[in-house]
This record gives sequence, structure tokens and C-alpha cells, in this order.
Amino acid sequence: MIQRVLQTLKNSFFPRKCQACRHFFHLEPGNTTGKKSVSTLVHDPIENSFYRVMASTLCPSCITDFSPVTPPFCTQCGRKFDNRSVTNHQCGDCIQNKIVCQKIRSTGSYNGALKSVIHGLKYKNKVQLSRPLGRLLFLSFMKYYDIETIDTIIPIPLHISRLKQRGFNQALLLLKEWPDLFAEMHSDRFAQIDFKNLVRYRKTISQTGLGKEKRKQNVKNAFAVTDTTEIVGKHILLVDDVFTTGSTCQECAKTLIKNGAKNVSVLTLARAN
Ligand SMILES: [Zn+2]
Ligand SMILES: [Zn+2]
Repeated sequence: MIQRVLQTLKNSFFPRKCQACRHFFHLEPGNTTGKKSVSTLVHDPIENSFYRVMASTLCPSCITDFSPVTPPFCTQCGRKFDNRSVTNHQCGDCIQNKIVCQKIRSTGSYNGALKSVIHGLKYKNKVQLSRPLGRLLFLSFMKYYDIETIDTIIPIPLHISRLKQRGFNQALLLLKEWPDLFAEMHSDRFAQIDFKNLVRYRKTISQTGLGKEKRKQNVKNAFAVTDTTEIVGKHILLVDDVFTTGSTCQECAKTLIKNGAKNVSVLTLARAN
């Protein structure tokens, strides 16, 4: 009781800054400020999870500017279909085996509040945003994947020069809390997070602003596996912040499969198409 009163007083005197519009706002009384255990949120629809996990990060107006990836979409690559009256099915590219990844899923569309917070994390050095975003990504993982079927989770690697420039790999930061979240789920089996065996050994220019073909060429043969024993026979989940054309994920998946991976799937926070 006293704690609740103190929290309410704290919220009244110390407003928070919205990470999308930069305006100050007060937390609603009784708001759990995103600290709620993820185990209580795993069965929530993604939209509700977004509201609850991001409540202390976004103001009440910005928080509603979120678009979850909703059906109908391709059962394999996750691409949304324009015709909203169809049901989920495999798209033409996947039927023709143009997509190497077994399953691709994202939390939300790359727009609105989600885009703002990803930008804040990546380009404005707001590493504290990786915590709620990492939890949100974990909830998407629990929604779309069977915890028993993924052996290893690999964040899409940055080239060493980009890593030095930015100071962190945002994909790896998103996974930082995952071992604790797996433990919270009391799962007997949880995927290993491996950030060492897939490397981006060729420096590539930023994919931003490049068309689909240029993006493909830009990342061609850019990745390598350092220890194949960690890869052979595994179902690997690649993790990144944004899925745009999929060129980077495709190239990583090809490299992993060439080195013996059984399957490669992908999970990102946002999807641009
Ligand atoms: Zn706002
Ligand atoms: Zn598809």
C-alpha cells in the first residue's frame, strides 16, 4: 500500500519523456511500467503486450500508434497479402523455393511508435530501449515459435568497423535479457544464444536507400561461419531489429545452411513490407 502511494507520488513529480514524440507524460496510476513478468504476458495478443511493455517508454498518444503484423500473411516468409479476404498461405516466392528461411516473423510493421523507438536505440544511442524492446521480441518469439524446436539463436552480426562506430550490436542487445526470460518460463530446454560463430567478415555499405537487387549484391558473400560444429544439424533462429527486403537474412541463412545448419528461421521486431 505504502509502496503504491510512493510510486503514485513519484509518477506525479517525475514525469517521463516519451521516446517517440519527446513530450513529458505521467504514468497512469497502477501502471506496471513494463516490469510485469513476461510469463504473465505470453498469451496476450501482441498489441496488448506492446501497450504493457512500452507503457513507461511511450506517452498514451504515441503508444496507440502501433501496427502488429496481422493475417493474412505467407505462412513461410511472413509477407503480408494485400488482399485481406484470403487466409494465410504460402506465397509464390516460397513455393518456387526462392526463400531459404523456414519461417520469418516480425512483431509489428516498421512505422509509428515502433519505428521511433528502434531509431532511438540504433541511431541515438538510447541503449536503455533495448530492455522493453527485447522483452517485446521475446513475447513474439513465444507466440510464433515452439521453444522446443529452436536450438540456437544468432543475432545478425555487424562488421567490426560498424560495431566500433556504433559501440554495440542492436540485435545482440535485444537478446541480452533472454536467458533470464527463458529461466522465468521454467522451460527444460532453451535455445543457446550464439553471437560468435556467424561473422560479417566483408565490410558492406549501409542497406538503407538501396533497392532490392542492390541490397542482395551488397551482402553477397559477406558472412562466414567460424566454427561449424556449433551449426551442423541445428535449427537456427536469426534475430534482427528490422526486416526490409530480407537480403541480409537470406544471405546469412544461405551461409548457415552451406555450413550444415538444418533449418534457419528469422524473427525481427519490425517488418518494412
Ligand atoms: Zn509520445
Ligand atoms: Zn512467402
